[in-house]
Amino acid sequence: MDDRSGKSSADETAAKERTASPPADFIRQIIAADRQANKHGGRVITRFPPEPNGYLHIGHAKSICLNFGVALENDGVCHLRFDDTNPAKEDVEYVDSIMRDVRWLGFEWGDKLFYASDHFEKIHRFAIDLVRQGKAYVCSLSPDEIREYRGTLTEPGRDSPYRDRSVEENLDLFERMRKGEFEEGAHVLRAKIDMSSPNINMRDPTIYRIKKAAHHRTGDRWCIYPMYDFAHTLSDAIESITHSLCTLEFEDHRPLYDWILANLPVPSQPRQIEFARLNLNYTVMSKRRLLELVQKKYVQGWDDPRMPTLSGLRRRGYTPASIRTFCSRVGVAKRDSTVDVAMLEHAVREDLNRTAPRVMCVLRPLRVVIDNYPENQVEQLEAVNNPENASAGTRQVPFSRVLYIERDDFREDPPKKFFRLAPGREVRLRYGYYVTCVEAVKDGGGEVVELHCTYDPVTRGGSAPDGRKVKSTIHWVSAAHAVDAEVRLYDRLFLTENPGGKEGRDYKDDLNPASLEVLTGGKAEPSLAGAAPESRYQLERQGYFCVDSRDSRPDRLVLNRTVGLRDTWARIEKKEEA
Ligand code: ATP
Ligand code: MG
Repeated sequence: MDDRSGKSSADETAAKERTASPPADFIRQIIAADRQANKHGGRVITRFPPEPNGYLHIGHAKSICLNFGVALENDGVCHLRFDDTNPAKEDVEYVDSIMRDVRWLGFEWGDKLFYASDHFEKIHRFAIDLVRQGKAYVCSLSPDEIREYRGTLTEPGRDSPYRDRSVEENLDLFERMRKGEFEEGAHVLRAKIDMSSPNINMRDPTIYRIKKAAHHRTGDRWCIYPMYDFAHTLSDAIESITHSLCTLEFEDHRPLYDWILANLPVPSQPRQIEFARLNLNYTVMSKRRLLELVQKKYVQGWDDPRMPTLSGLRRRGYTPASIRTFCSRVGVAKRDSTVDVAMLEHAVREDLNRTAPRVMCVLRPLRVVIDNYPENQVEQLEAVNNPENASAGTRQVPFSRVLYIERDDFREDPPKKFFRLAPGREVRLRYGYYVTCVEAVKDGGGEVVELHCTYDPVTRGGSAPDGRKVKSTIHWVSAAHAVDAEVRLYDRLFLTENPGGKEGRDYKDDLNPASLEVLTGGKAEPSLAGAAPESRYQLERQGYFCVDSRDSRPDRLVLNRTVGLRDTWARIEKKEEA
């Protein structure tokens, strides 16, 4: 069985989720009021504006769900716009991955795909317009001087000595900047606003700079590029965005956003509204850090299953529905906070509990011979695919004389609360029989290498006619029918809630050295033979797993642990250790 088996119900859930009206957060309230007042003719146009300088992460998912979500709820549209104003850091690899990830999350932009670079001509004309109005000037201070003249939070800035250049001189210099006559850093174009403003963003911000780098879309056509604030505001206006939803760090940029809209003949008047970004504990989310983890090979790539990127979460086994549910539960607020990563894990567990078929796979096998079971006999036992979903049906699992069980499910000297297999002890094999351990065979080093058991033929299906009980049910796989599996046990990438948060520590000091454990000897039941990449399963008693999309082959199964089940035994053992 593969992922598709659970898909129709997942799709239905997704459809319900999207049409059900989520509780109205402050942004949805503003939009509802705007529609009521027939602002923008009642239309709602939002945009998701990633910079293509990295892969999308779970924080972006919050923004995607919000922007596409409010558009869907209001019969509006959401544009996907690449904010590609920095040719040095951007790349088509990122553009492609972003499109893939937004679609995977379940959202569509149709023909509303834009690039800020599509608007470069118009943005350039707007810049010239500002110069003509005397509201922008070419400044020839060095970058360091510009910084120094800008002042600080407590001190006002000082006017640049170039602030009073004539319109003609500015037009001429700006044109020559565009033609490539100057080196990078020789001049910039600045908006002439107010060097004494308490808001540093209003102290004659740079709106164009020289950058002699080839752009992934416009090639060498430009050697001047608009700065983010200028390009972003004008892109919103050019695309007639009605509500420009961004994260809180842009709150102080809003006066500049509004100044640009007020001082240019723009085709529309979008409104910027800020919300809190998503922070997760045990997680780093800045693209700079994620890039460093990839480049310095702390992880195996942007889609490493330990990464908080959407491609990493996908490869880990997260479903789009679980991420959307998570985002909707986190909600949208105006105050920054940190969300417990356990909430994300909970969302995927909850989803997979309903949708992922349950199968048996032994991660660390121990051979078991059922001495009184006929040689060469094979029985097909009926197993339930998902007790949470009757329509998932049943399957046949072969049972034979030689099986594998989990090494951990046997103890030669069982501690007090250990109810699984031990010498002389009887347990239930899931969907099978009661078996009793009669002998543990050891190798020269004293390690148990094989168990001999007897089975009780009348307990087939898992109950004894005489009513005797066993305290434990364990999973197993028939040795002759088993499919070999490599199992990758992923754990959190960081050991501390706030990586690098302690004085004098780098976030990399808090990496979890045991975030990946690879088990090469796994034995899975035969229904997993040839499982399709990204198929998701619950391995009974082990957790949720998915078939790795990069390395799994029809003849070489690789399973990634998405998230564990809660293990009471581990908790008891820990308590006892303590
Ligand atoms: P950087 O980490 O380089 O500052 P960024 O994370 O802001 O970049 P962008 O590509 O500019 O990345 O982000 C695209 C959109 O996603 C922006 O509107 C941004 O506000 C939003 N976004 C980014 N990170 C988060 C987050 N953690 N929570 C919510 N929204 C986010
Ligand atoms: Mg950004």
